Amino acid sequence: MEEDDLGVPVTAKIKFLGTAGGRFAVINQIRASGGWVLEMDGYMLHVDPGPGALVRAKQYGVDISKLDGVMVSHAHPDHSIDSEMVIEGMTMGAKVKRGFLLSNKTVFDGSDGFRPVVSPYHKKAVKDIFVVKPGDVVDVGGISIEAVPTDHSEPDGLGFVFRGSSTIGFTGDGEYFDSQPGHFKGCDCLLINCLRPRSITWPKHMNSDDARKLIAEANPGMAVLHHFGIRMINRAGHEAKWIEKETGIKTIAARDGLSVDVGKP
Ligand SMILES: [Zn+2]
Repeated sequence: MEEDDLGVPVTAKIKFLGTAGGRFAVINQIRASGGWVLEMDGYMLHVDPGPGALVRAKQYGVDISKLDGVMVSHAHPDHSIDSEMVIEGMTMGAKVKRGFLLSNKTVFDGSDGFRPVVSPYHKKAVKDIFVVKPGDVVDVGGISIEAVPTDHSEPDGLGFVFRGSSTIGFTGDGEYFDSQPGHFKGCDCLLINCLRPRSITWPKHMNSDDARKLIAEANPGMAVLHHFGIRMINRAGHEAKWIEKETGIKTIAARDGLSVDVGKP
């Protein structure tokens, strides 16, 4: 088994195909916005394929024909807009029925001004469709995926907890809420969509002070901040260091193309 630089066996890998969040960082491609890919226990899952996901997969060496699943946390375009093309990649251009698509009902049915994100043609191309809400757990083989709630402007928005050889938490978009840390207890690695630095609040989105609170209370093995808004990008490394100092928990700021090895001590 592969080991990390401290000799701990690597049980999961996370690759960032983008770290931009919010309108302007994405529109201007100040950072990429292709989502992230989890490899664990022989599975490869693409989460939140936003604008440019195909291009960034190619750029950062991810072969999307090997994907086992596509997951979309909510219907906002920076998380979802390249879903259909990534599904085509996973299914040999919709010619081989394979893999799964997991998301919420807004992504599948549309609502509140959003059209359905994935066409009937693309839904038919995948082997399994999972329409989930907070509290649902889907077992896809060696990995179970729990949908967890968010407090975001897309009311059906989700976070996820992946349980396999490692436990990986992902907040999705949204602001901190009191019961949120309870969903992420026991995570080896927690990914946090952190749109703003600590001094700037934005309703329904997380800033780094909220991220600090979440990390301190959920107590993951390590935390990774990503999905940065335009006012966070240049301060992300500084904010991560501050959180690490405050909490004593290893915290890093992702950059485009970063690969994170998660070990189970
Ligand atoms: Zn959003």
